[in-house]
Amino acid sequence: MKSEAIVEYGAPLQSVESDLPTPEGAQVLLKVTHCGVCHSDVHLHDGHFDMGGGNKLDVRGGRKLPFTLGHEIEGEVIAVGPDAEGVAVGDQRVAYPWIGCGDCPTCRRGEEHLCNKPQNLGIQVAGGYSTHALVPHPRYLLDYAGVTKGLAATYMCSGLTAYSAMKKLGDISPEERVAVVGLGGVGMMGLQFAKTLFDAAPIGADVDENKLQAAMGSGAHAVYNPKDDDAIKKVLADTNGGVPAAVDFVGSESSLQFASSIVRKGGQVIVVGLFGGGFSMPIPMFPMRAISIGGSYVGSLQETIDMMELVKAGEIDPIPVEERPLNQATKSLDDLRTGGVMGRVVLKP
Ligand SMILES: [Zn+2]
Ligand SMILES: [Zn+2]
Repeated sequence: MKSEAIVEYGAPLQSVESDLPTPEGAQVLLKVTHCGVCHSDVHLHDGHFDMGGGNKLDVRGGRKLPFTLGHEIEGEVIAVGPDAEGVAVGDQRVAYPWIGCGDCPTCRRGEEHLCNKPQNLGIQVAGGYSTHALVPHPRYLLDYAGVTKGLAATYMCSGLTAYSAMKKLGDISPEERVAVVGLGGVGMMGLQFAKTLFDAAPIGADVDENKLQAAMGSGAHAVYNPKDDDAIKKVLADTNGGVPAAVDFVGSESSLQFASSIVRKGGQVIVVGLFGGGFSMPIPMFPMRAISIGGSYVGSLQETIDMMELVKAGEIDPIPVEERPLNQATKSLDDLRTGGVMGRVVLKP
């Protein structure tokens, strides 16, 4: 098998050849047909996340180099271990990558994605920037019949992240609209799920006018550019004092500042983006505005199953997907780093 692997953090990926694994136990071997390139791959490739104030979170630990990134994996089953049930050679599947130890209270309550001993595909164990990928159990393989090839892969991270964040907003009154802050690949997915889950189309915000236009074309009710000096005032005026909830798909100092400024009293901000930076707000504002700020990280296997039902039912409009050959993995990471990607890049080994 051939993989585009990290051989040195921050340096271009290199093409690495290795032996094709034979699935053992309940393992399943996929021939990768598509693998999405996610913004968190950029940070993993760098080896760190920016924590603000010049601080960096080192994420190089627990990973042997060369390492294969890629956690939005779509492929065809080509071999199964002796204990792998419910899956057959030839099946087309997407792989849930947020796998835990399977043996702790967190995993047992169905929150494997929050396990402290993660075994995530493409994060701790080899992922899909490769011709092949090994999945530890068939339960992580989901059918995507009816969903466009290549697009299906992107639901495993960007789709799931967007879906799980929107589910955390709970019931939203039909009189109100949520805000989607940041309209890149994940934000555009968020827009789609918000349209389906809530009765009123969301508003969108981004500093890129092209992305604002794309969001309007995808059904946003209204869009705002936080670079406009009066953008916050406009949102507050247009929404009768603010939105009930905003999801920050950027996760930068300025995006979170914006998101937390446009929620109404009693409102909620969910941070999803991992851009980085620090955030501060006068503590009395939490009780006085009765707002809460929380985070959301990918989603559970059950949420993924529920989400795929919506997707397969055709209730979610597709985001733009650009297919590129596997050897453009490094270029794709570089393009994401500079913000030059509309929608999602999907590698095609
Ligand atoms: Zn991702
Ligand atoms: Zn666990």
